[in-house]
Formats: sequence, C-alpha cells, structure tokens
Amino acid sequence: MDPDLIYKSVVEKDAKYVMQTYGRKPLLFVDGQGSTLIDVYGKHYIDCVSGIAVNATGYKNQRLVNAIKEQAEKLIHISNYYYNEPQANLAEKIIQITGMSRVFFCNSGAEANDGALKLAKLHTKKDNFISTLHAFHGRTIGSLGTTANQKYRDPFVPMVKPATFVEYGDASAIEKAIDKTIAGVILEPIQGEGGVHIPQNEYFKEVREICDKKDILMIVDEVQTGFGRTGKWFCKDHYGVQPDILTMSKAIAGGIPMGAFAAREGLTFGKGEHGTTFGGSPLASAASLAVIETIEEDNLLENATQMGKYFMDKLSQMKRDDVSSVRGKGLMIGVEMNHECSYFMDEGLKKGVLLNVISGNVLRLIPPLNITKEEIDQVVSVIESIPKQG
Ligand SMILES: *Cc1c(COP(=O)(O)O)cnc(C)c1O
Repeated sequence: MDPDLIYKSVVEKDAKYVMQTYGRKPLLFVDGQGSTLIDVYGKHYIDCVSGIAVNATGYKNQRLVNAIKEQAEKLIHISNYYYNEPQANLAEKIIQITGMSRVFFCNSGAEANDGALKLAKLHTKKDNFISTLHAFHGRTIGSLGTTANQKYRDPFVPMVKPATFVEYGDASAIEKAIDKTIAGVILEPIQGEGGVHIPQNEYFKEVREICDKKDILMIVDEVQTGFGRTGKWFCKDHYGVQPDILTMSKAIAGGIPMGAFAAREGLTFGKGEHGTTFGGSPLASAASLAVIETIEEDNLLENATQMGKYFMDKLSQMKRDDVSSVRGKGLMIGVEMNHECSYFMDEGLKKGVLLNVISGNVLRLIPPLNITKEEIDQVVSVIESIPKQG
C-alpha cells in the first residue's frame, strides 16, 4: 500500500478516536534494527530516545525476540494464583543485581512507585512523604503526589496527596522537612524528566544517614536509571548506597510492560496486602531475563560506560557557543543549551536523528546501550549542525 495513505489513515484515526494527551511528532515507525528506527516511507533514524529509556538492547535484538517468541508459544499469562517459572528465575536475578531482599512485580513505573509508597505507609504507619522539586515519579493517584509538576497534580487534589517538596541535591533540606508524619523520602538517583540533574556524589550517602537517624524509609526510583542506563546495573551503585525500597520499570523487559519494586530484609507485604493481575507474567518475565542476559553477555554496562564517555567528549567538543553544560552518567546524557531548543527535535528528524528535549532547553540523550561510535559520531554531527535559532 501507498505509505502516504497508511500514514494519513493512522493520523486520522488517532485524531478521532484516541484521547489527545500526547503531542505526537509527525512520524510513523514500522521497523527497526539496533539503534535505528525506520519509518513508513523507509527513512532511517538513529534513535537517541529509545522509547524513553526502554529499548536498552536495541531494536530486533535476537535474544530478546527469540525469548518472547519461545515463551509466547508456551504461556503468555497465567495469573498470580499459580507458580510461574520465568517469574521465579527473574526474581532470583533481580535480587542478585539489586542486592535487595525481595521483589514484587507490577506493570509500569508509576505502579512500582505506588506500591513502594503503600509498602512504606504500611510499614511505618505514617502517611506523608518527602519528594524533590522537578521530580517525576508517575501519574497514578498515588505516585502523582510525589511528582513535582503542579500542572499534573493540582486538578486531582485532594485525591492526590502532595508530598513535601524540597530542593534536589540538598540533604539538609530533607532533614528539615522530616516531622512525625513522614514515612519516607523518594528520590531519583539522577532526575530524568526534570532535566538530567545529577547530584553530588555524597548526596545519597547523606540522605541514607538522615533516613537511618530519623527512622524514615529511603525509596530510590530507578525507573529510568536502572538496568545499565548509567553504566552500572543501578545508579545507586555509583553512590554506594542501598535504599530501603528500589523501584524499576522502563528498560526492565525490553519493551514488554513491566515494573517492579524490591525491598530490603524485613520490609515486605504479607498475604493479600498487595496484588496485580498481570504483574510478572511469564511473557514479561521471560523478556526481562533475556534483557538481563543480553546486558551481561554483550557487556552492555561496559559499553554504556565507554560510549557514554565518548559521546560526552564529542558533545563537549562541538563547535557551538550556546551549550551551557554537557553532563551525564553512562548513556544518560543531558546537553543544556542557553536558549529554548525544543525545535532541535524537528531539526533532528529532518536529518535522521531522534532527539528529545526536556525542560525546554535540555537535550536528553538516552540511546540503546549497544549504540556504536559511528552512530554517536553521526548524532553529534547532526546536533552540531542545527542552527542556533529555530
Ligand atoms: C517514566 C518514569 C516513571 C513513570 O513510569 P510509567 O511507566 O510511565 O508509569 C516514574 N519514575 C521515573 C523516574 C520515570 O522516569
């Protein structure tokens, strides 16, 4: 069929039948390979978005595709009424790579944070949380209370219970905000949606000490930073800190929806205290096992570290005078411009690179973890060539 007709028909149906919550780019992808996406017209793009840090092992990763195919031939879903072999194997793996004690599987990042908040409330018998300015923890009625953006939150108060928001990166601000109603603090190890904000190395250690001293729980949201994104399994490992609860999602199952939260020894739900229909399905668990195996077998932690350094070096050397900072860990990179740069997304598309701009002036680069030097070179030359004004 004529690609134009396919494209127009999709746009029309979307406009007519889908709730218009997303500002979609004029693009229809139909295929991919490695770090490349292919649109309905056959045009290739290097992907620095990865489905928002989800497609860590790249498109058409054969280990992942085969694992999903093989599991789908047997069982896709079975419910948590019964034992489930892929889920048990995955739980063992997740406990190994997180250093936590037990895990609960759900279906998204917001749900993982919701579950973590519930567990913290149940355990401490306290009701309130501390979060940080610019934090993003999800959009459900529970997790939304810890998401900083008031535009998302305010229409849903009082159902949504807003946290106390303090400056990110300032441990003493957390200490000051603690009163007898506080169950815990929730933090991203690098703020993702908020603009790729990286705290000082000591921040997490200081927060850990404060939580221990004041007897509140430390919840670390690794929904975006987890599974190798920053060059370690989890970003907390850069800081050498174990949280009380760790939340995960995005890259966990290579694009099959999945979320999870893991907690330390002694912190767990009992029978009937939490549950979900789909969480940890055989299909999602098999996909997640394949993602973890790929990260191990293909040395993707090392690749994310090396390529991240290479990428940041190249970005720092660009002949542009409007870059305020290049920052990142592994392949979670932010390029802050001294002006509004949302138009970079459209300029990138014209030149075959998928870019994402957050907070209006920060390019967030989160490509698949197996991106190559040649691809990075191409991306950098495209970014370098985008004019200073849109
Ligand atoms: C994306 C994200 C979430 C929300 O995940 P959903 O799967 O969209 O619900 C929560 N926390 C962080 C840090 C995220 O990046």
